[in-house]
Amino acid sequence: MATPSSSRSGADRCPGLLTPFVSADGAMVRLRVPGGRVAASTLAEICSLAGTFGDPDVTVTSRGSLQLRGLPDPLPRELITAIGDLGLVPSGEHDKARNIVADPDPALDDLVAALDAALLADPGLAQLPGRFLLAVAGPGGPVLGEPWDVAIVDEGSTARVLVDGRSVVVDRADAAQAALDVARRFLATRPDARTWNVRDLSPEARVDLLPGGTVVVVEAGAPPVAGPVGEDLVALLPLGLLTPRMAQALVASRGSSQSSSHLDERGETTMRLTPWRSVVLPGGAIQAAELETAGFVTRPDSPWTILTACAGAPACARTSTPTRDLAREAAPLLDPAGPPVHVIGCERACGHPARPHTTSLTPSSVADIVAAQRSPLRKA
Ligand code: SF4
Repeated sequence: MATPSSSRSGADRCPGLLTPFVSADGAMVRLRVPGGRVAASTLAEICSLAGTFGDPDVTVTSRGSLQLRGLPDPLPRELITAIGDLGLVPSGEHDKARNIVADPDPALDDLVAALDAALLADPGLAQLPGRFLLAVAGPGGPVLGEPWDVAIVDEGSTARVLVDGRSVVVDRADAAQAALDVARRFLATRPDARTWNVRDLSPEARVDLLPGGTVVVVEAGAPPVAGPVGEDLVALLPLGLLTPRMAQALVASRGSSQSSSHLDERGETTMRLTPWRSVVLPGGAIQAAELETAGFVTRPDSPWTILTACAGAPACARTSTPTRDLAREAAPLLDPAGPPVHVIGCERACGHPARPHTTSLTPSSVADIVAAQRSPLRKA
């Protein structure tokens, strides 16, 4: 969600961008989008920047954030300024800590905003590891199936704060601070800076993170399937890639199909990126055919609902396997009703689904990927 700009220039708010991660295909910038909430105009602007400065395809990650790849190193000053002016990096110090995933339910927007604002307001929380994950969900929400460290479950006037199989109930208005209190205790408790997640602590330390917590069984629903949901649309991005053509279709869809009920007070449409490499478009059902033509998947029986891949070659220097190209070739041959398959170029298995799936490690052919779908499921 874009946060209002301060009086500092865009470049001044993005010190982290001055030292980007550099891979085989150039510099890479990760833009965290708390809860996946992003205005359609902001998404279009990011795609325009990607096309101007690097790889025109923007990657939507398994945390619902955005990656711009193939950028010059060092990053051009104009790019840093433009990213900062979009309000996507409101605090350079906190940038890596803003890892919030959320169910794509508009009723959770205020909880996501409150959690992000409270996180940004505490200088100490800038120390949270980049892998520490906060979640906001409805009861039984699908993001509860993701590998979160602390979760808030909206229960109406109250909310449940979850940590490691235990929970406390607090007033809804206090939920953000209660969740961040857990994060503060985690920072105070962890033995060293390489302890990134709650699950890395001892069992005793984990219990101490949530005083008064009682044991709870956490149940997660299935991620939303591709296709219309009432007036809205769940549109899947094959391989998590948002191409310029898809971005243009998004812009066109918000211009031609959105009724005023889908616009916020700024006349904007808030789209919701999900950890399952899809985007939920308010009022988008009527545009399903155009978006499908542009490259989105809007049918639940598409093989892209069960097929993912890491970046692979040539983007990643760790492999010579062109994972994405092979996945594209294999897609028509896979069973959409079968187990999910993740194609990877090495054991790191970047971008793997959080739910049970099979892997195709360094496939040499499409046949290897097809065979992998028949191999035993493994947990993330
Ligand atoms: S899984 Fe390995 S080959 Fe694939 S992107 Fe990650 S590091 Fe590169």
